[in-house]
Amino acid sequence: MYLGCHLSSANGYLAMGQKALELGADTFQYFTRNPRGGSVKPLDLKDLSDLVDFLTKHRFGPIVAHAPYTINPSSVVEKTRNFAKLALTEDLERLQRFPGALYNLHPGSHVGLGASEAIDNTANLLNEILTPETKTPVLLETMAGKGSEIGRDFGELALLISKIKLNDQIGVCLDSCHVHDGGYDIKDRLDQVLETFDREIGLNRLKAVHINDSLNPQASHKDRHAKIGQGHIGLEAIAKLVWHPKLQNLPFILETPNELDGYKLEIETLRSLEPKKKKGSKK
Ligand code: FE
Ligand code: FE
Ligand code: ZN
Repeated sequence: MYLGCHLSSANGYLAMGQKALELGADTFQYFTRNPRGGSVKPLDLKDLSDLVDFLTKHRFGPIVAHAPYTINPSSVVEKTRNFAKLALTEDLERLQRFPGALYNLHPGSHVGLGASEAIDNTANLLNEILTPETKTPVLLETMAGKGSEIGRDFGELALLISKIKLNDQIGVCLDSCHVHDGGYDIKDRLDQVLETFDREIGLNRLKAVHINDSLNPQASHKDRHAKIGQGHIGLEAIAKLVWHPKLQNLPFILETPNELDGYKLEIETLRSLEPKKKKGSKK
């Protein structure tokens, strides 16, 4: 199990690896650009290759590069779709120099268009971008179904994936707050939720997990993250998720409302909750 948190990229690549190590993490997530979707800083190749060396040396797991959450690849507005295409293309081009990185994106919002057309738009856009040379896996995040978000249940993600031609490169990032808010009982029926995921999408597609507690009850479709143990999912259920025997080679990323010391504490707490019987088989 690899465990880490979302970090700011303000001080560059290597600084994120160093910060993660300080926090007791062996993975992390960062935004590929300003989350509000602006242009991207020039790429410092030396800094990136220093990070890659650092991560290898310290045996980090896969790193999650999160696309800005404001881009909407499913939009009916051509200009909005074109911006999404530009950002995704640029990000993926950069990530080719970052072995071990996973590229995570929100599938989009239909904004009145209807889910099925929106799913087609996102699939078409990804079909224009992905080539057999794209090495970085592209992960679609499970969404809470807030507003008109697509990817609000496993079926919608499965449908979207089925419409992407080069879908060998497509994976899923499961967000615990989102699936809980989306209506799945990960608190009391985690095994059943994972079985449903396996049946509808395939557990082989699951490449990363966002671990957040939720401020709202199951099926609320709200998407408000809480600190671990301070929401409706609870510490016990989240510890079960991160230590689930079927998920042990995945990166788990905290996106809880925390400063760095809060993340450090959550990482320590979750690591300390390793089930006793399974000790000795870490990673
Ligand atoms: Fe996200
Ligand atoms: Fe998330
Ligand atoms: Zn969220």
